[in-house]
Amino acid sequence: MCPATSRGWDTVRIILLGAPGSGKGTQAAKLAECLRAKHIASGDLFREEQAQGTELGLLAKGYMERGELVPNDVTVKMILGRMSQAKGALSCILDGFPRNQEQAAALDQALADAGGPGIDRVIYIEVSEEELVKRLGGRWTCRAHQHPYHVVNAPPKTPGICDIDGSELYQRPDDNEETARRRLQVYFDQTAPLVEHYRAQGILATVDGERTITDVGKDLVAALQ
Ligand code: AMP
Repeated sequence: MCPATSRGWDTVRIILLGAPGSGKGTQAAKLAECLRAKHIASGDLFREEQAQGTELGLLAKGYMERGELVPNDVTVKMILGRMSQAKGALSCILDGFPRNQEQAAALDQALADAGGPGIDRVIYIEVSEEELVKRLGGRWTCRAHQHPYHVVNAPPKTPGICDIDGSELYQRPDDNEETARRRLQVYFDQTAPLVEHYRAQGILATVDGERTITDVGKDLVAALQ
């Protein structure tokens, strides 16, 4: 079920906000397909840069391995670059960006400078810390296009193989327990305050992320109506 609004969806900008393991990537991909929007996932972009061995990929690698945030200047530049490619033609769904106050301010400023619409809606996918730790430990990712799976919640039809593109599934190195805990700490310290930032702007909706992928998706669509 796709959302419908009077404004249409050709230039809509949506942020999915939530901790690592909250299901942002899964929901963003589904929603992007539904809205024919561009799905911009900062973590996926950094992993692609690494796989291609670019300078940005090399720079990001150490931060990612430690579960720390990549510096704001390069991250903001990368995301704004991707958003401007989608300019005017496509809606976009931001997944994993912004992740701190400085990134959120840079995004607000860039959209204001561009003179077009700002962020339309921020959907916060709420999941308890205990559940997040469990999810990150069971997560598997597809090598070719980063489609996400989970040993219990969303297993592939054939173990170890992506249902969509047939590529190998692997466990992300930063999903190991120690790094996952560090990522969650970084999330609670730096990203969680953005819930209030967007609530104050009157554009925040919260959905309960501790249900099935289908049910969370339905709530997410309802929050966009
Ligand atoms: P994710 O795939 O969203 O869990 O991100 C994986 C890693 O990429 C994070 O732990 C960070 O090291 C880096 N990263 C992703 N998005 C951002 C961002 N908006 N700002 C800084 N670092 C990021």
